Amino acid sequence: MIRSYLARPGRSYSTDSARRLEGKVALITGGASGIGKTTAHEFIKHGARVIIADVDSQTGPQAADELGPAAHFVHCDVTAEAQVENAVEIAMTRYGKLDIMYNNAGITGPSFPPSIADLDLNEFDKIMQINARGVVAGIKHAARAMIPAGSGCILCTSSISGLMGGLGPHSYAASKSTIPGIVKSAASELCGNGVRINCISPGPVPTPLSLDQIGLFYPGASREQLTEMVNGLGKLKGAKCEEIDVAKAALFLASDEAKYITGHNLVVDGGLTCFTNLAL
Ligand code: NAD
Repeated sequence: MIRSYLARPGRSYSTDSARRLEGKVALITGGASGIGKTTAHEFIKHGARVIIADVDSQTGPQAADELGPAAHFVHCDVTAEAQVENAVEIAMTRYGKLDIMYNNAGITGPSFPPSIADLDLNEFDKIMQINARGVVAGIKHAARAMIPAGSGCILCTSSISGLMGGLGPHSYAASKSTIPGIVKSAASELCGNGVRINCISPGPVPTPLSLDQIGLFYPGASREQLTEMVNGLGKLKGAKCEEIDVAKAALFLASDEAKYITGHNLVVDGGLTCFTNLAL
């Protein structure tokens, strides 16, 4: 039935999903580690060339080396707008275009809750600078490159911590909750320019960021034990969240298969936000 529908004259639908980003140029902030690095690997596997833009000058070049000739490292602190602009310019100079901008860099900050009554506002500012302002800077400079081209795809990493309470530091939750809002707002404008923008809200994924955070509560636990704890937070029977699950969501949203999707927040959390009682 479906086959005959797709086979109708005038209807085109590519089932060749082997290289879904062939010839595309992507820039990934926070691409030196975790979700960003795995996504870079996935994008390259699907034919893209990727700029790894990261503040970490040690792991960044290492990641680019590991990923091979299709990857290029650019030092970029997303809190410095000029460095974000520079990273976009490098993509444009080196490859002549920017098809995909993934604003993924983020931190959680050292203090897990404690009480909102004890919130350190300096720490709040620092997290907002990276997780919120850094993303907005990325959106702005990607838009400057993509609007004249009349096409492009912007992705941003939010978090389910921005959708519900009790999942991370208050400042982190605040920073992440800004992302779906700016994405919706930017999408409403960029629709007219042929540019799509979406965000992804992962649940807990075992990366350095979450393992360091949960490790604060279990100082004696090994990395493997912490990974198991993070994996155990998902609710979907038989599945555990890995970086690749988020990378696959990014791949889909970046590909032409999502050509009619913009302004969306794709939650990748194994059903966690479907529950009112998390019983963590
Ligand atoms: P990670 O620590 O493995 O990677 C984060 C990367 O961001 C690092 O390479 C780091 O150097 C870089 N970075 C930090 N500050 C930067 C800055 N100012 N400028 C440029 N780069 C900077 O962590 P991850 O889990 O892969 O995190 C990626 C994104 O996913 C973050 O935005 C995070 O908030 C989000 N996220 C993670 C989880 C999780 O459980 N791991 C869940 C939801 C959302």
